Amino acid sequence: MKCELEYPFETPPIDGWMAIADGLYWLRLPLPFALDHINVWLLQEREAWTLVDAGASLPPSRAAWESIIANLLGGRPIQRIVITHFHPDHYGLASWLQQRFGAEVLITRAEQDSAVNLYAYSDGQAGQYISELFTRNGLDAERRAALAARGNFYRPLLAGIARVAEYLSAGSQLRIGDRQWEVIAGQGHSPEHACLYCKSAGWLISGDQVLPGISSNISVRPEQPDGDPLADYLDSLAELHRLPADVLVLPSHGSPFRGLHARLAALERHHQVRLERLRLACHDAPLSAAEALPVLFRREIDSHGLFFAMGEAIAHLHQLWHAGELRRYRDKQGIYRFAATSP
Ligand SMILES: [Zn+2]
Repeated sequence: MKCELEYPFETPPIDGWMAIADGLYWLRLPLPFALDHINVWLLQEREAWTLVDAGASLPPSRAAWESIIANLLGGRPIQRIVITHFHPDHYGLASWLQQRFGAEVLITRAEQDSAVNLYAYSDGQAGQYISELFTRNGLDAERRAALAARGNFYRPLLAGIARVAEYLSAGSQLRIGDRQWEVIAGQGHSPEHACLYCKSAGWLISGDQVLPGISSNISVRPEQPDGDPLADYLDSLAELHRLPADVLVLPSHGSPFRGLHARLAALERHHQVRLERLRLACHDAPLSAAEALPVLFRREIDSHGLFFAMGEAIAHLHQLWHAGELRRYRDKQGIYRFAATSP
């Protein structure tokens, strides 16, 4: 499926930047995870800059920013920061840059609320909420304890909570330089993710809603343990089909690409294949989410990946449960199991 995508820029700007159009810069900041970078976008205004996403609050990202500030900004301030969603690689340095430049921060209300809530959890609370969700979904005590022991792993990746100048929502219009942008809100990966679409230029800043090469994590989270984020995500993808086929997609990870419709279809198929595997498996015997892990993931899962993999397994089971294809019950140990509703 990847072969249907066209990548107009051969080499990414590793730990640096690159102009990809008049007034549009692709910045790539380092991350210390399996996903080793995030793309953020710098848009030129007359005497200032607008930034989309900020990077995680970690020393290598701050060092990259010092170089960008010294060598690219040309003494002009970042006057506005648009945050696509609350995840720490996007939100992390927003308050640091806000304080440095006096920038206005724009984000959707649900994303800001998520950042505020998660940032405030004590290590004990964060560990407890994760542990409760994963206990009910069948994860063994040893692996659960390892996850809970990480405490609040969101807070250390944020410089702080940014002050919001204006809440964005679906349909919000932004004037950036000479261009008009529209907010397209989506759900599933996070509660109210903002993509930015510039119709006149044919650009979509897609955040984490649409990525090339990898599928976005779609997880049931401790904050909403009975939620159905996969249905929300698939609905949000369906909405993006209205955009033109030749739009240049600017994703948060990987390289800019053309071929949005092919990518949307591939992502939809990716999830449908996993749903089908679970339908078949649950038809043979009721499954917990922990037991569904090897059905969904055929690779080894490390402890960092386990948090996301469990969230994703629960999300797929919940989609079938909410759709009425599976029923959920508690077994004698109090673990949720999912069984086929029809013989
Ligand atoms: Zn994200």
